[in-house]
Amino acid sequence: MEKREFKAESKRLLDLMINSIYTQKEIFLRELISNSSDAIDKIYYRALTDENLEFNKSDYYIKIDIDSDNRKLTISDTGIGMTKAELDENLGIIAKSGSLDFKSLNDIEEGYDIIGQFGVGFYSAFMVADEIEVRSRSLDSDKAYLWKSSGEEGYTIEETDKENIGTDITLKIKENTEEDDYDQYLEEYRIIDIIKKYSDYIRYPIKMEVTNRRLKEGTEDEYEEYKEEEIINSMVPLWRRNRNDLEEEDYENFYKEKRFGLDKPAKSIHMTVDGLLRFTSILYIPSEAPYDFYTNDYEKGLELYSSGVMIMEKCSDLLPDYFSFVKGVVDSEDLSLNISREMLQHDRQLNLIASNIEKRIRRELESILEEDRENYESIFDNFGMQLKYGVYDNFGRDKEKLEDLVLFYSSKDKAYTTLKEYVERMKEDQENIYYATGESLDRVDSMPQTELLKEKGYEILYLVDHIDEFVVKMMQSYDNKEFKSVTSDDLGIESEEDKEEIKEKIEENKDLFSDIIKLLDGKVVDVKPSNRLKNHPVCFSTEGEISLEMEKVLRAMPEGENVRAEKILEINIEHEIFEKMKAAHDNDRARFELYVDVLYDQALLIEGLEIEDPVEFTNNISKLM
Ligand code: ADP
Repeated sequence: MEKREFKAESKRLLDLMINSIYTQKEIFLRELISNSSDAIDKIYYRALTDENLEFNKSDYYIKIDIDSDNRKLTISDTGIGMTKAELDENLGIIAKSGSLDFKSLNDIEEGYDIIGQFGVGFYSAFMVADEIEVRSRSLDSDKAYLWKSSGEEGYTIEETDKENIGTDITLKIKENTEEDDYDQYLEEYRIIDIIKKYSDYIRYPIKMEVTNRRLKEGTEDEYEEYKEEEIINSMVPLWRRNRNDLEEEDYENFYKEKRFGLDKPAKSIHMTVDGLLRFTSILYIPSEAPYDFYTNDYEKGLELYSSGVMIMEKCSDLLPDYFSFVKGVVDSEDLSLNISREMLQHDRQLNLIASNIEKRIRRELESILEEDRENYESIFDNFGMQLKYGVYDNFGRDKEKLEDLVLFYSSKDKAYTTLKEYVERMKEDQENIYYATGESLDRVDSMPQTELLKEKGYEILYLVDHIDEFVVKMMQSYDNKEFKSVTSDDLGIESEEDKEEIKEKIEENKDLFSDIIKLLDGKVVDVKPSNRLKNHPVCFSTEGEISLEMEKVLRAMPEGENVRAEKILEINIEHEIFEKMKAAHDNDRARFELYVDVLYDQALLIEGLEIEDPVEFTNNISKLM
């Protein structure tokens, strides 16, 4: 017999389980039955695809045994079983499937509803049992092993006898306490209730000896009890059942049972397609992003079944990257069981299913956006980044499909808007969709370059995500309206008169401007009087493709240090500083140079760009003061 310790995180979780105050302890049975069903899926699939194995359908089942005298509840299955190494690995280390973020585990406070939040598989049995035995024989081993644990001290593994391949899990049910009634888990009717509630659609029969009553032979009013094996679950997978017979709760239970997420889904979709292409699917839009969603570890995909037999746990070809957050199952009779991952990619049926699913998800999102705005905004908070990636991924191939699903903040209430709504609100004489980029809404809102547009009553999109500007650049236009940055050289709102006036001003101050350009020596491509500034003395605008915000993003990336936006220094010639600079230009050259340096640095600072020499900047300001 070998004795082992649990890994540190497992110990912590066990501790939480054993002392759990969670009220819905009954879910332990759902977790164990679900593990059994997965294990049978595995052996079933092997039998179907391996000619050397022979099984009958009747060989696959789950069996529940209640031994109330000894306080024992046993869940047996004819699944694939576990080898010695698998017992050690799978049950010694918790939740390899990643249902729990271990980093947060240490921060969990006593009494925190970890089970409700996480639904943590096998270990949940420790909520109701003070001792667990797992007797298992794997299809891949001719020996059977017994894994035993009474919780924190660790577990033992030893060789044992077991005739059939599969796993028996025996729970020694806890004694009742003042707060908790554990006896219920030894009651026949209660166990039947729990199975019906959570595991009714498990595909394999869940058998149990059930007590019935019958008339005693030879009597007319005397009854006797007898036991008979019954199948408790209806065995129809949820997706095969009639939508009208199902409640939202059924879908939510299924989501939990499948461990798709720890949240309550924001939307459940049940779709059946009949005709040339046949498939059934249940899809979920989660309400929260899984903790690893924005990491490389996250794997997208739907569970794929062929006529009720699971053939792949995460079929990634069924979902475009921009909907990678969607969870669910797909079942089709048109798919071959033996299909391999490589073949799947080229499978015509599968591609058709994928495109149907993509369209349906899009339609659902559109309708949530229309009918349940709050829900949509929360979905967007979680997964909007993925939709935005979708817009510019593959050189904008899918941008039309996604343009109406993307939200941006706007100067109107600093709230989310769709592009459609923006365009509907556009002023009659407004031709472009304006946007401003920056780190935060407040920062963007106070950008000097927005002053003129706001005065005209034009709405401005506030792009505060690094990715936003790339998205807008990839779209180029929406509804034939071009996107225009508030820092772009030509806002497209100057009247002929304005343009004339500026020309005159440039002419008047020709020497001054050309001296500034010379002094700034290549740092700006031009210097101009501004008509967009109202209160600030200076700002930048840009020519060409690279905006100031992009300069910031690109320079933060490797090999991007030399990226520069083509900046134009705009000067507010109505501002009193301009008068002073002009005076200095005429009679105090050194002072004039100070003004130029300080104004240039100010423009950089307003944009959140780095200034070259902060010490010089402060010295210059002191000198001017
Ligand atoms: P999860 O099911 O999320 O992976 P569990 O803690 O419930 O987490 O189970 C851990 C692993 O133990 C499973 O992934 C599976 O490999 C194995 N396992 C659990 N129960 C059984 C069983 N009845 N038969 C075969 N393997 C099992």
